[in-house]
Amino acid sequence: MYFPLLRNLSKYQIEPVAINLLDSWLAIQRSAILRNLSPLRFSVQSGIDVDLAIDMFALSSSSDIPVLKPIYKVLCPNCDGVHQNVYIDSEIPQHTINCRFCEYEFIPINRQDYIEIVFERILTPAKSIHPTSSTTSFEHRVGNVGKSDSLRASDINKNSNHARRLLFDALDSRYEAAQ
Ligand SMILES: [Zn+2]
Repeated sequence: MYFPLLRNLSKYQIEPVAINLLDSWLAIQRSAILRNLSPLRFSVQSGIDVDLAIDMFALSSSSDIPVLKPIYKVLCPNCDGVHQNVYIDSEIPQHTINCRFCEYEFIPINRQDYIEIVFERILTPAKSIHPTSSTTSFEHRVGNVGKSDSLRASDINKNSNHARRLLFDALDSRYEAAQ
């Protein structure tokens, strides 16, 4: 395996086939997008169910399986500009801010439909990559996934489970309090 820590996913009833697909997919990503990995794109390119893909990314960001790190992008609901990136969900601003592009006023924690979640791969592969063996399984599916290639905090909170709560420790309780 390129990322042996991913074997721990089997403790969460993830099938070996899915684990191996994530392992090689993470290994072949271009360095330019290593801080911008999306479980939705993995799902499209690997054929893995999208909910399972999100769970796998969440679990692979846990202290048990530190292969990925979530990045929360605070987007402006008015112009879609990226206002800021935060690494810990509790750092998502809970007060009113003004977009630095269009000056629109909003409270990021209350606009979870405009918090995009991407992942950074924080490990390098444990062995060198053989393009012929590992990349072919994805090539025929690689395409433009367009706008659906954006995972929002609101999508995750709609369908919360153990894995996803790992992403939203702090956010969950505040979200409930704000309702
Ligand atoms: Zn704006």
